[in-house]
Amino acid sequence: MSAKRAIVVSAKEAESGSWYYGFNCCQCSGQIAVFDDKSNGEKAPTMGGSGHLQVACPTCTTEATYESSELVQFQAG
Ligand SMILES: [Zn+2]
Repeated sequence: MSAKRAIVVSAKEAESGSWYYGFNCCQCSGQIAVFDDKSNGEKAPTMGGSGHLQVACPTCTTEATYESSELVQFQAG
């Protein structure tokens, strides 16, 4: 396993009805909100290049590293 340089970030507390960029948890497939999507779903997620983000899932607390290409957009329900 090669060491990945990951940026450690904290998951946001997703508010119902708000849009976020984030990841689907590799463990429980739950939604992990990382950034506010101020476009409310209109702008596709982008992190401007490659990179890795390390974040803990708020649902199952699994901490994992995700690639910027795995970024997804979702509305908290
Ligand atoms: Zn999880």
